[in-house]
This record gives sequence, structure tokens and C-alpha cells, in this order.
Amino acid sequence: MIPPSGPERILASANDVSEVIPTLPGVVAPHPPGTAGVPARTFLVPRCLALFVMMWLVGALGDHAQAEGFDGRFEAFKTNASPGDLYRFLYAMPKAGDLHHHAGGSWRMEDLYTVATNRLRNGGNRFYTRVRAGTCPEDDGKWRRFTTLAKFTFKGLSACQQAEYAPLDELTPAQRMEFIDSLRLDRPGEGRTEFFEEIWPRLGALGRSVEVFLEMTVETMKRYGAEGVRYLEPQTIPMGFLLADGSSVDPEDFHRRLAERLKQADAQATGVVSRWQVVVLRFTPVAEKHVEMAYDFVSRHRDLWVGINMAGREDDDKGHPRRFLDVYRRMRLKHSGVGLAIHAGEVDEANPHMRDTLLLGATRLGHGNNVLTDDDLVLHLRSKIAFVEINLVSNLLLEYVPDYSKHHFAEMLRTGIPCGLSTDDSGMWDSNMTDEYMTAVKEFNLTWPELVACGRSSLEWSFAEPSLKKQMIETYERDLRRFEEQFSNDEWKVRLGSVKPVSYGFARRRWNLSW
Ligand SMILES: [Zn+2]
Repeated sequence: MIPPSGPERILASANDVSEVIPTLPGVVAPHPPGTAGVPARTFLVPRCLALFVMMWLVGALGDHAQAEGFDGRFEAFKTNASPGDLYRFLYAMPKAGDLHHHAGGSWRMEDLYTVATNRLRNGGNRFYTRVRAGTCPEDDGKWRRFTTLAKFTFKGLSACQQAEYAPLDELTPAQRMEFIDSLRLDRPGEGRTEFFEEIWPRLGALGRSVEVFLEMTVETMKRYGAEGVRYLEPQTIPMGFLLADGSSVDPEDFHRRLAERLKQADAQATGVVSRWQVVVLRFTPVAEKHVEMAYDFVSRHRDLWVGINMAGREDDDKGHPRRFLDVYRRMRLKHSGVGLAIHAGEVDEANPHMRDTLLLGATRLGHGNNVLTDDDLVLHLRSKIAFVEINLVSNLLLEYVPDYSKHHFAEMLRTGIPCGLSTDDSGMWDSNMTDEYMTAVKEFNLTWPELVACGRSSLEWSFAEPSLKKQMIETYERDLRRFEEQFSNDEWKVRLGSVKPVSYGFARRRWNLSW
């Protein structure tokens, strides 16, 4: 924790103003040690000076509190609040947008199990998950527990292979919990190999079922809406979705289904608006072709689709940013106004990925972990040419930082580089947006203006169309004022007690919080 500084901190920590005075350079204390019995007149000047300084300090604090409004209240609250009360407060506060958000990775896995095993919500499908290693001649040698198949694929297996799977809706309670846990990083040392190489492939057919996808989109919006998030920019690949019978869903049809699902009452009731990004897996041999398809798709569906992202392990150098310079330049010859938010700097070592990603035209960079290894880049970013999407929980769980003292967030935020908090894959972290805010406050001592700036900039740097952006910013400012009023009057403790946060394993493991 970085302690607060300045006169307000000195006053806040002192029981009495007289304790403060000796700490100021050049000022003599009212009763310096060893002065007992010395006539008071001797100290007339120092006393006056001390009084002046005291009045100045009190006056300055008054001005400070008046000028910064809620800031002072938050500082006092933050200093004294229990972790539980701080979490309640942060859960309830308006949080604007989550700009770095992978659909699928953000799903709450308990919800996924519920949806995937309900034939009224999963398109009449049935899913089968692998529960035992086998010795069938057809086995390809890769044994991954809880790899999940749709019914049409399962039916195509030999009887020997089918015996390796269990219907998802017939798992025992213990198996069900194991299945859910297998889709998230909840154990020490699982790290990025488990995440990239096991969890995403394990999601398998569940991630490609169009019905499951649409239902989980709304379930996710409900959870984010409950904690004060109002805007999401989920990343997904609109190609490759399947119906229950195994037939493919045309990207146009996927768009139509998504738009319709988002108009339904339960989606609208979440209070969350979404605009979507097409994500391209950067290391595949056909990634350039996919960038072209993404441009074409976004350009034809601008009511919902606003940008392109590139994701995938950056330490797989087959997907390095420079490889794509030609295709992005060609696409700009014919397409205008397609947002580019690209993962960059999600690596351990120094490399030119972030500056090369700026060259691709990106105005938002995902993660930016190695930014401080490039002085020129830091100076460029300070001129506000791009926004860095900070993912605190992700960076810790995937071990891109050993601890937060090595994280770049505070340096960026406090040197004027545009940045904000986002979740990346909250479902797979067993986490939520409040955990990002809580981590920011606990680890970097964020002030109220800094927290608000994170929220506000997540809307300002979104790819939402101007009218929506304007409306969301106005709503955010209104909600913020209302929130500040609620926590400024004498009823704030009652208000805080009425907040019922929903938090998950990350908050339980890190701060021992459960409700
Ligand atoms: Zn990401």
C-alpha cells in the first residue's frame, strides 16, 4: 500500500493538531522538550507561528474537502473500513464499462452448468463430458477430463469411446462441482498453461452452441448489471457457432439471433448495454484472412459490432503484431471507423509488441504488462494516443506479475496514460468487476477521483457510437452523483449495510470475503 501524503494525511493520522505542528520543517512546537519554566513571552513568536500554521492547515483541509467533495469522505472511509465494508461500497458504486471482456471466459460456470443442462434453454441439446481415461483404439491420445461434446458428436463415437463420457445432466453433485471447477483457475500454480491449453479447449462444444452462448450472454449481463457495470464490449468469433443438430450457424444468422436476444425483456432489465468485438486468434496460419473477414463483418453490422481484437498467447511468436501490418493497412483502404483493440504486452519479457500494435492502428491495448520496458513508448502514451485495458486479476492469476508491486497500473494511471479497469475472463478467474476495483484500492490506494476516472474513461474510450457514448456518460455522471449523495448523508451506514454483494472464490481466497 502506498500511504496517502500531504497535510490531510498528517491531520488524519494525528489525534491532536499539536502533534502535527512539530512534523513541519522550520516550525517550533508550542512546548518544545526541556522548556518547562521558561517564561511564556519567550515563545510568543513561535506560538503565533504555530497558531498560524494550524489555522492554515485547518483552512486548507476545509478548502480541500470542499474542492474535492466526496474525495475526503472516501479517504476517511477507506482508511477505517473493514474489507467487507470496503467491498460492499465498491460493489454498489457505479462502474461504467468493462472494455476487455471475453465472452465465454466471463461466464459464471455455475450458470453455464444450469443452462447447458436445461433443454428448454440449450436448444434441445444434450452434452456429454469426459469422465474417464480410456484405452479405445480410436482415442487420439489426448486425455482431458471434462472435455465436453454435444450430442451429435457423441453419437458419432464408438461404443468404447462413449463409455468414457457421462451426460452432463447426470453428473453426481461431486462431479458437477469438479466439472465447474475445471473451468476456472482456482488453485495455486494452475497459471497460464492450464488457462490457455486446458480450460478453453475443455469448454469445447459449450462455447460453440449458439443457444448456450445467447443464454449465457444474458446471464453474464445480469451479474455485471448487479454490480453497477453498464456497458460491455464482449469479444467473440461470430463464425463457427452450431445448432443442436450439428449444423452451422451462418455469421449473419448469429448476428440476427444475438441482436434479437439482446432485445428481450430479461436482457433489457439488466441495464447493461453491449457492443461487440470480433476476435481473431493471432497465431493461426489463416489469421490475416480472419482479419479481413472481421472487417467485412463489422462493417456490415455496425448496429452491434464496433471493433476487432486479436487474442491468443503472445509468447507464441507466430502471432506477433508486425505480421499483420500489411492486412490492416489494406483493410484501411476500404473500411472506415472500425475500432481496433488488440492484446499487446501480455508477456513477461521486453519486446516491441505494444509499439508494433500501435502501428497496426490500435487505439486500445489489452494488458500492456511490459510497457515500462520501453521509455519512448511510455512518453508516447502520455500524449494520450491510446488507452490501456488493465486486467489486475488476470495478470496475477496468469502470473504475468509475481505480485502487484511489479504491476504497471499505478505508474500509468498517475503519469497520465489513459487506462481503466477490466475483467478479461472473470468467469474463469472465479471473480467479478468489483474484485478489480477492490484490488486497485487495496494494492494501489486509489483515490475517489482515480476510481471515477477509471469508470469515466472506460466509456470515453469505448467504441460505442457517439449518441450511445454521450448517453452513457450522462447516465454515469448522474448515477455517480446519486451514489455520492447516498453516502454523504447520515444514513450512509444504513445504506452500506443494505448492500448485498455477490462475490466468488477470488474474493474468498484473497480477502476471506463471503456473504
Ligand atoms: Zn484478453
